[in-house]
Amino acid sequence: MDKKSSMSQATKQYKKAEQKRLKLMNHQASKPGLRGTINAKCIECIYDPFSEGTWRKQVQDCTSWSCPLFPIRPVTEKKRGNPDE
Ligand code: SF4
Repeated sequence: MDKKSSMSQATKQYKKAEQKRLKLMNHQASKPGLRGTINAKCIECIYDPFSEGTWRKQVQDCTSWSCPLFPIRPVTEKKRGNPDE
């Protein structure tokens, strides 16, 4: 594969990943109430489709404790109960 073709392939993969991210954000943002809006913001902020884990796992692993949304970001109850787990 030549360099130009490789770049084109990478661009396509990036666009596909970004579309996936946007679809997730739009899905969450369309939910009624603030939960969906908060979820959408966290996805926009931290979710990287190329990184390991689902968007929920990546948000749960967020360490930006100074973020105003940190205490209400989507996490499992177990994780919320003990941040050191
Ligand atoms: S809680 Fe974390 S993932 Fe969510 S908006 Fe704040 S910094 Fe981003």
